[in-house]
Amino acid sequence: MNMIQVIDVTKTYKIGEVETRALSGITLEIAAGEFTALVGPSGSGKTTLLQIMGCLDRPDSGTVYVNGQDVTRLGADQRADIRRQEIGFIFQFFALVPVLTAYENVELPLLLSGLDARERRERVMAMLDAVGLADRAHHRPDQMSGGQQQRVAIARALVKRPIIVLADEPTANLDTASGEQAMAIMERLNRETGTAFVFSTHDPRVMAYARRMVRLVDGRIVEDSEVAGDGKEK
Ligand code: ADP
Ligand code: ADP
Repeated sequence: MNMIQVIDVTKTYKIGEVETRALSGITLEIAAGEFTALVGPSGSGKTTLLQIMGCLDRPDSGTVYVNGQDVTRLGADQRADIRRQEIGFIFQFFALVPVLTAYENVELPLLLSGLDARERRERVMAMLDAVGLADRAHHRPDQMSGGQQQRVAIARALVKRPIIVLADEPTANLDTASGEQAMAIMERLNRETGTAFVFSTHDPRVMAYARRMVRLVDGRIVEDSEVAGDGKEK
């Protein structure tokens, strides 16, 4: 079952007269449960591809299916609904709400879900527990380390039980130990929940967690291979 299907997608950014081709003819399928690294040099199109797969941006041409639905035919509101229901995001700079506690940040995606307060509390505490932060529930982001903040962001991405999590350079602002801890938690949640993950990275230690590696150069896929995913750097 394909969670996301990208077919012959192109994307060009125009700023004044200057055009930059970010993606050229990208075709890619992301199946249920995979744990995939998106790699390639800076400027190769990784962020753009993640944004298009996550319905944060639209391609100029080509088609994107999310959970079987052609999202390139939908309006902005409908794409926002799909994003809210089906997709979890993790960003390089965590993107937590600074005035909210860890608990409140993780609860945010559930506030519009229709779950009652008790169900929300159980889910939020289960997720904080899963990322090892049950004892930090009432801390705000500025009272936590970068690694802890990113673990809160992982909990926030998973709490609504999305079909896929898209992570753009999730470890780029973490020290080595915190980055490896974050990857180990994502890998465990991937195995336990079956949620698919696609994460971009430059870091060979982070790539080593992947079971599939997709490499972009100049907006094209130049490699798509199964890899060991044993956490050992090649
Ligand atoms: P990566 O994530 O691999 O670094 P990006 O997707 O960020 O690659 O960028 C791909 C290309 O598109 C680069 O040349 C980048 O400068 C350009 N680009 C990305 N976003 C924008 C934007 N919003 N406006 C203009 N150019 C952009
Ligand atoms: P990353 O390392 O995650 O690829 P980038 O620095 O390439 O990050 O891009 C960060 C953000 O800036 C993205 O949202 C991307 O779309 C945007 N961006 C990248 N290049 C440009 C550009 N040349 N002009 C405007 N926005 C850009």
